[in-house]
Amino acid sequence: MTPAGPRKVAAYLAALAGLSLTLAACSSGGGGDPAAYPEDDIEVIVPFSAGGPTDTVTRMVAEPMSEELGVQLVVQNVDGAGGTVGAGQAAAADPDGYTVLMHHIGMSTAPALYDDLAYDPVTDFKPVGLVTEVPMTIIARSDFEPETFEDFVTYVQENADTVTMAHAGDGSASNLCGLLLMDALGVQVTAVPYDGTGPAMTELVGGQVDFMCDQTTNTTGQITAGEVKAYAVTTPERIEALPDLPTTAEGGQPDVEVSVWHGLYVPAETPDEVVSTLTDALQVALADQAVIDQMADLGTAPVSEDQATPEAHAALLEEQIATWGEIIGAGQGG
Ligand code: ASP
Repeated sequence: MTPAGPRKVAAYLAALAGLSLTLAACSSGGGGDPAAYPEDDIEVIVPFSAGGPTDTVTRMVAEPMSEELGVQLVVQNVDGAGGTVGAGQAAAADPDGYTVLMHHIGMSTAPALYDDLAYDPVTDFKPVGLVTEVPMTIIARSDFEPETFEDFVTYVQENADTVTMAHAGDGSASNLCGLLLMDALGVQVTAVPYDGTGPAMTELVGGQVDFMCDQTTNTTGQITAGEVKAYAVTTPERIEALPDLPTTAEGGQPDVEVSVWHGLYVPAETPDEVVSTLTDALQVALADQAVIDQMADLGTAPVSEDQATPEAHAALLEEQIATWGEIIGAGQGG
């Protein structure tokens, strides 16, 4: 190897300078000034498949947020491993406000479930605000034998070795609800993981899997159309969208109570000014009558304005990480 001549060294230094300029431009989202944000379309990562509940909620708010921000929020489904693949991709994105993550309760369960998690939900993200909290329902293929929730409990207890349960991967809401249910019933059934409960619903309707616990944002349509059999809702009270559906407590299983909160995140180094712009747009979207109506039809509602803030979101996330860490840790220990 010969020493580089002065001309080569100069060219190399110029190339390096050019490279660092390019990197700086990339990391600031194409050189965007936070005060001028947004100047370009925003990618919203949904860490589950298209057509599922997280995707549905995201698309509901993306439209009015796009109108408010004057750029398009473009949904990208990056599914796999219970939502951790998409969340990992969002954590590693440029912190410029052009990549946003919509995630749910799984953001708080993943640290206790995955030893090799590629991100820390608290230190690798800034919360933008909470979005909604969604009840879950226990549903089955339309020709599943049990008729009532009480029948379902007995049937699953007596046939645990043959019954199959769909879920969206470890740490997903459907997995969590299924675990609570199995714990309450004192049995284990065969779990069938999917990349989201959108595809799981297709297989449930097709009769390839027996039952699933999933958000009303994915199940209300199929329940009302009679495409699936519905047994119970997992909230303390019945819900308006499905008034005939008893609660799990009414069916003798009060411990199977869970609802699924959702929130928006950006990578941790994103400027606060950008986060505020997104929070403001989120609040406008959540006050939009069309969004309120669509959510009501699917058994849910936007969170209140004080919950759609980074502060309320951060507080809930930390509280939920502690809560689920204890529950999951205790389960794994025992
Ligand atoms: N509902 C799914 C879950 O169980 C996620 C999804 O497909 O949106 O977490």
